[in-house]
Amino acid sequence: MTLTELAKKLKARGFIPYICKDGKEAAQKILELIPEGDTAGAGGSVTLNQLNIPALLTQRGTTFYSHSTVPDELKGQVYQLAANAKWYLSSANAITENGEIINTDGSANRVSSLIFGVPNIIYAIGKNKLVKDLDAAIDRIRNYTCHLNAVRLGKSTPCAITGKCANCTGKECMCNVTTIVHHPTRCQENVYVLLIDENLGY
Ligand code: SF4
Repeated sequence: MTLTELAKKLKARGFIPYICKDGKEAAQKILELIPEGDTAGAGGSVTLNQLNIPALLTQRGTTFYSHSTVPDELKGQVYQLAANAKWYLSSANAITENGEIINTDGSANRVSSLIFGVPNIIYAIGKNKLVKDLDAAIDRIRNYTCHLNAVRLGKSTPCAITGKCANCTGKECMCNVTTIVHHPTRCQENVYVLLIDENLGY
């Protein structure tokens, strides 16, 4: 499936899609979409870091809330600030050929902000996140994405060691909630999906 075909599916679902030829163009689009005086928040995102979004937003004066750069004792506060921002930015763990966006969280700060409370959402999704269907999305998350995130974050989950999901249930589990966004929700104003013709994040 091409990104143009996927963009049509997303549009039919009520999202506002843009195709970006690379991460640089996607970063520029994000800066254009968010008015300078607005607040923005995000969860941890390798894609957004690759696009240099935290630095680009803060350097131009946008208040940007991200727990990634604060000590553990302040993370809860930053989750709340991000959840009350005017914009929330995220990638996706997977997007299906039907235009459903799937994310899995351990703390749910990201997925909750993506579905309720923040009026404007921007997803920045590299072409490597495109999967056939929901089963493929879950398989991607459990047996690929989570392993890499667990290693990156120094978690001691089974997947961090073996690379495969063992359906763990302990405190370190990173798969406590999975959301499937079929359409923008009623409380949201604009949900933009930047489809980037480049492999980004995992
Ligand atoms: S459920 Fe546990 S083992 Fe499976 S992918 Fe998630 S964190 Fe890893």
